Amino acid sequence: MSQEGLLLVVSGPSGAGKGTVCKSLLQKCSEIKYSTSVTTRKPRKGEEHGVNYFFTSVEEFQDMIKNNQLLEWAKVYDNYYGTPTEFVIETLKSGQDVILEIDVEGAKQIFKNFPNGVFIFLLPPSMEELASRIYKRGTDSKEVIEKRLAAAQGEIDQLINYNYVVLNDEVEKATEKIQSIIIAEKCKVNRN
Ligand code: 5GP
Repeated sequence: MSQEGLLLVVSGPSGAGKGTVCKSLLQKCSEIKYSTSVTTRKPRKGEEHGVNYFFTSVEEFQDMIKNNQLLEWAKVYDNYYGTPTEFVIETLKSGQDVILEIDVEGAKQIFKNFPNGVFIFLLPPSMEELASRIYKRGTDSKEVIEKRLAAAQGEIDQLINYNYVVLNDEVEKATEKIQSIIIAEKCKVNRN
């Protein structure tokens, strides 16, 4: 068995609660390392550079692609998002687990290089609930919200490509389910 950490990938439509569930998981399991993505999106109110994202220009992002500094990247709702390679590789090598909170396109790219990753799809209880969560969040314009809702069904269709699906009806329950998945993965005999 390898000594490498687990590569956890959490995807799901905007409004499924990925951010909230990942935060709750990291509070409970402080040994898991969060991979902070790079994005060309403008920071939302309360977001911090280096914490929520590394906010960057399109030119800098393109340079990172050219220099092979991104493990995966995707254009999501008109902005670029990507996972810095070095942090993920070094953390896994040191035997620690890493969690990526990325979209379905990014997850597909990760699967090509890390088929032993643990791919978890977070599902909102319903499309109505999804719409309500995005509206309540109040951080995006009406146009952006409509784009996100339109994309959601296409993303949900991708869940067949994941190892696990977790319904996020309650954050606490969804977090516990992901903790159970991690425990099960660590007990697997044939992980690598
Ligand atoms: P938001 O703008 O709401 O923070 O994120 C929009 C979407 O981009 C979400 O589905 C989020 O999971 C995804 N995302 C965030 N970081 C990355 C990344 O590094 N790579 C990819 N492919 N998607 C990301």
